[in-house]
Amino acid sequence: MMKTELIKVDPKRPDPRVMERAGGIIRSGGLVAFPTETVYGLGGDGLRADSSAKIYQAKGRPSDNPLIIHIAKTSDLYRVAAQVPDEAVALAKSFWPGPLTMIFPKTSEVPYETTGGLDSVAVRMPDHPAALALIRAAGGYVAAPSANRSGRPSPTLAAHVAEDLDGKIDMIIDGGMVGIGLESTIVDLTERTPVILRPGAVSREMLRAHLERVDVDPGLLGTDDSRPPRAPGMRYRHYAPRAPLVIVEGAEAEVAAYVDALAREAEKTGQRAGILASDETAGLYTAGLIKSIGSRVSESDIARHLYQTLREFDQEQVTCIYSEAFHTPSMGQAIMNRLLKAAGHRVVRVPDDGDRD
Ligand code: AMP
Ligand code: MG
Repeated sequence: MMKTELIKVDPKRPDPRVMERAGGIIRSGGLVAFPTETVYGLGGDGLRADSSAKIYQAKGRPSDNPLIIHIAKTSDLYRVAAQVPDEAVALAKSFWPGPLTMIFPKTSEVPYETTGGLDSVAVRMPDHPAALALIRAAGGYVAAPSANRSGRPSPTLAAHVAEDLDGKIDMIIDGGMVGIGLESTIVDLTERTPVILRPGAVSREMLRAHLERVDVDPGLLGTDDSRPPRAPGMRYRHYAPRAPLVIVEGAEAEVAAYVDALAREAEKTGQRAGILASDETAGLYTAGLIKSIGSRVSESDIARHLYQTLREFDQEQVTCIYSEAFHTPSMGQAIMNRLLKAAGHRVVRVPDDGDRD
């Protein structure tokens, strides 16, 4: 065990002395967790093989699951990306800094330890003053996966990072709650047609405004094991709470009645059911531990509270979790992708009163 230093910063105007010291830790091969606009990241020097190895070890992450290199200015891209197509320049102009990660062929400067053995590299510029200050102070190239133990929900608060990594890393920079709450959109630009490998806050429609064509990795959507997702990280069971989770699809009242009956049944046998609901539906349940993720009219609230709510169910030691579905207009794909993974793709569909055959 090492001692993990926890330091609070003002997320808008982080103390330059703190950021300088944190950057120094990374330059000398150490690990620092830091806030971004998506989730908290666990940063090490992306150009050092030994730093990436340390990240895998601290997270308990399989070493074939590549890391994203975070940069603070677009011109720094060219040291790690061997080819940068015009589309990437256009996307960087529109979405950087922001929740978009792009995949390029890597240069020889990027160690295979950082890319999980791949010849490609993932790069992003985060939209967060503390993250950008840290990247600059660290020398420009911070490899950072989400700062959780592998398999647990990603951290949206510094306390989540401490829960998972205290004693395993040098420092945690506490910048309060993150803004978006889901990991970045990943687009592969190494193929002729750009492909979305992971949905995020930058939706397919937003990308379409800049790209002639953009496909979605077919391995992402289905439960079909013969088409594994192309982003290595999407293959692992991920984002998961400790209790088994089931998504219940259907009309609000029917879903509530169905889940209510299951929760009541669970309580009879000494179990405790957690229910992931929304402000609009929470009042429909009469059994179980009911948690609202936010209002259905604010998809950004739903995205922001998803991981935190899953962690809260863990703390309350529920033995099973039932969740409503959240097919919201813009971020629905990203939200449902994470929820489906947390559920191991267990989905129950409750028939509407109207659609009995
Ligand atoms: P995390 O930072 O924890 O969200 O994980 C980063 C994810 O980015 C990995 O799990 C991969 O799914 C994806 N990724 C990173 N580098 C590559 C790459 N070179 N090719 C495809 N996917 C990648
Ligand atoms: Mg992760």
